[in-house]
Amino acid sequence: MTFRTRFAPSPTGPLHLGHAYSALTAHDMARAAGGHFFLRIDDIDQSRARPEWEAQIQEDLRWLGLTWDGPVHRQSEHFGTYRAAIDRLAARGLTYPCSCTRRDIAAAASAPQEGVPQFGPDGRIYPGTCRGRPMAEARPGDAIRLDLSRCDAPALSFCETGPAHAGTHTVTVAGLRETVGDPVLARPYMAASYHLSIVLDDAGQAISHVIRGEDLFEATPLQRFLQHLLGLPTPEYHHHALIRDAAGKRLAKRDDARAIARYRDEGATPQDIRRMVGL
Ligand code: GLU
Repeated sequence: MTFRTRFAPSPTGPLHLGHAYSALTAHDMARAAGGHFFLRIDDIDQSRARPEWEAQIQEDLRWLGLTWDGPVHRQSEHFGTYRAAIDRLAARGLTYPCSCTRRDIAAAASAPQEGVPQFGPDGRIYPGTCRGRPMAEARPGDAIRLDLSRCDAPALSFCETGPAHAGTHTVTVAGLRETVGDPVLARPYMAASYHLSIVLDDAGQAISHVIRGEDLFEATPLQRFLQHLLGLPTPEYHHHALIRDAAGKRLAKRDDARAIARYRDEGATPQDIRRMVGL
């Protein structure tokens, strides 16, 4: 199997030390394996994505000495693929429209049962208020959710090689109902959710290894389940440790003081950046 991996930044701000570490790790692993490294621009959220940020990200990656194979994959050029996947799930009766606001969801969940988790990797676990509404009644402002109560699957697994969670992990629908709740598949202003879009992209680019930060480990069970539902292959996963500052605090993705462009302007070299992130 050819090793194929990707770096998938969202073009909503500058590239930071944490991103640089992720990109360098994925790039170096691909090159060491004689495989392919791809650049994917996660611009699914068109309300926040900016072409200027993508240009800056590409410039920073090139400055770091990274090269990628083939053309850049932009999510904004694949809305049709996402739409088709949602239509297939809808045709199987697995989706419903949802008009709940964040506030509605918080209010519905305000009387928690003891021992039942309230928050999952996507935030508050959806209490199922709109479940059962027919798709024919969808209104323009509605989100589309996956009805996990109508989903059935054998126990699924994925293989993880990262330092914190190495091993084989099992995913069950019952577990997802409890820890994630019915996930959003699309929103009025977003052709597909993060989870749905990236599993379709990974399959479309025949990604064999997903290499990304440990903060996304918790998102993997749902993504594994979506692969099963859509008949997509499952890559191997490697969630790398997150870069921390001198005090041990995780670097925020939005901390502009850590922007690569800023270090570069101050005279740092690409080797300095590699050293700073411990490579
Ligand atoms: N675009 C995501 C991020 O910047 C990464 C997606 C992924 O690697 O699955 O956090």
